[in-house]
Amino acid sequence: MAKENIDGIKTKFLEEICNSQTEKDLYFVKVKYVGRSGELTKILKNLKNLPAEERKKIGPPANQARQEIEKAYEKRKKELTNQIDWEKEKIDVTLPGKKAEIGSLHPITIVYREIEKIFSSMGFEIVEGPELETEWYNFDSLNIPADHPARDEWDTFWIKSKEKFVLRTHTSPVQMRYMQKHKPPFQIIAPGRCFRREATDAAHEHTFHQFEALVVGKDINVGHFKHIASQFFSAFFGQDINIRIRPTFFPFVEPGFEFDISCTVCKGKGCPSCKNGGWLEIGGAGMVNQNVFVAAGYPRNRYQGFAWGFGIERLAMMKYRIDHIHWFESGDLRFIKQF
Ligand SMILES: [Zn+2]
Repeated sequence: MAKENIDGIKTKFLEEICNSQTEKDLYFVKVKYVGRSGELTKILKNLKNLPAEERKKIGPPANQARQEIEKAYEKRKKELTNQIDWEKEKIDVTLPGKKAEIGSLHPITIVYREIEKIFSSMGFEIVEGPELETEWYNFDSLNIPADHPARDEWDTFWIKSKEKFVLRTHTSPVQMRYMQKHKPPFQIIAPGRCFRREATDAAHEHTFHQFEALVVGKDINVGHFKHIASQFFSAFFGQDINIRIRPTFFPFVEPGFEFDISCTVCKGKGCPSCKNGGWLEIGGAGMVNQNVFVAAGYPRNRYQGFAWGFGIERLAMMKYRIDHIHWFESGDLRFIKQF
């Protein structure tokens, strides 16, 4: 190992740090020579294996080289950090400013907040529940036993576990969870995300949002439902809305009904949006089945109440005239930025 080697390393190092234009490049040059297995480090580490005479010859210049390298490195580093590129630093005050990118809320969030605002103003409490539910909360407690044909329509995602867990198919389990802990009278809404394993089309998605309303007391009747529904929809659409109900079957209500609202486009006169009927289908509702009250621990026939649930996507589609449900989960910024 000759002294020339050490000089060679020093020269190469100085050349390379002059060529380094960033602190990062500079750092890696340093590592190459004096890092843990750098060229000069290897020589220094090897000193102890050399005969005494050799060691005397190589040791001092090697150590000196290392000091010089460290010094040169610090100097170059300072140069690089202080280097100001005046071309880049020049400020042209006549240039137009950069436009700030302002985000916008997802239409589902907007509708969510609108719903919460309207119901809060009517004295409703806003309640949430888990998206992963037990079979009992999602089905049995709501009067849908395992052999009930209604379950077929609600095929969903089951989770493999000892107890049967399910991605909730509706927000109704929140009713049960709330009733178990509270005594009537009360009025709540429960908005949230739901899941169903079904074929998707313009109006159906495997993941969607619902909101549930539940009003329970000693003498709550269908008239209360119609009044609250028409108050809500009138506020939501910013126009007077009429409510029409048609009998139907849902296991958790008795009687159950589908309800329609007067067409928001033609105000009930008839147009293509409402297929000239003047009404738009909106959701399902009914008077809470006494079996559901019993499951919640209330005595049979002590209370009466109404419940409804419907899709938030559907409301958003009506309000903003969105033609396909897939937009909501698409993540497409062109869609979101319109709101
Ligand atoms: Zn219409």
